Amino acid sequence: MITPTDYGDFLKWMPGENEVINFEYNQKKSQDIVNQADLVFCLDFNALKRINDFGEIVRLSSAKKVMIDHHLQPEGFEDYRLWSNLASSTCELIYWFAEELSFTHLVNKDVASCLYAGIMTDTAGFKHSSTTATTHRITAHLLEKGAESNTIFEAIYDHYSENRTRFIGFCLNEKLQLIKEYNTALICVTADELKRYQIMVGDSEGLVNYGLSIEGVRLSVLIVDRTVARKMSFRAKGDFPANEFARRFFNGGGHFSAAGGESKDPIELVEAKFKDAITEYSNLLSQ
Ligand code: 5GP
Repeated sequence: MITPTDYGDFLKWMPGENEVINFEYNQKKSQDIVNQADLVFCLDFNALKRINDFGEIVRLSSAKKVMIDHHLQPEGFEDYRLWSNLASSTCELIYWFAEELSFTHLVNKDVASCLYAGIMTDTAGFKHSSTTATTHRITAHLLEKGAESNTIFEAIYDHYSENRTRFIGFCLNEKLQLIKEYNTALICVTADELKRYQIMVGDSEGLVNYGLSIEGVRLSVLIVDRTVARKMSFRAKGDFPANEFARRFFNGGGHFSAAGGESKDPIELVEAKFKDAITEYSNLLSQ
């Protein structure tokens, strides 16, 4: 298992986590593994640029590539795909994959716990509209295999540092802007603010949802200055196409109502560009 970047501490309880290789710190090892592989599974992304510089290494490898994913607009780099934008999560598709191959007897407590965590987080706690009866049937099987829903929920959602909790308070109190004319909520976080609260990778996850929970808000955006680039998260309600917006203006993509993008411009410019861009969607955001 190779990841393109580090991930939040709230995932580090997962069985097998100590074997995960972070490409950022182990580029040579990651490259060797991919070059020697017969088969590479690409999970939860469908365009190689999503895994940064590791993408070209994967592209050039002679291994057959199997892409399992549920985001819109696959790039088409793979040899085989199990793809559905209707699936709640990549982990749901992985379970289908195991079922198709009659491998579900191999799903033990550890595997079940990881798949359960993937489905729970990708559906934001079974809340997204992509959560179906099939999703619940699969999670029921995972519980039967030993996944403990309350333990996993606590490990992921009740695991925040004091700094992270205070950072959320700071953002909601001092950084949240409401652009009422466009029913839009916006939070911009500078690199200095991240440093002040010692915000780690993964700590800003979920912050964008607070804006969307305000009554009447149809679009919520979080812009975070991650030094190398400004990362943006979009969450929308109703007919606003977050993925199209992210693609058109911020070199991004994702799902219809949850998408992301990035920009190399200074954060003030990104904020201004965002405010300008939403004016083109007044038919979906205003009234
Ligand atoms: P998040 O806001 O949680 O980082 O991402 C929301 C969704 O948008 C995820 O499904 C993620 O894969 C996708 N996404 C985030 N950033 C980007 C990006 O820069 N490009 C593309 N194509 N998708 C993104």
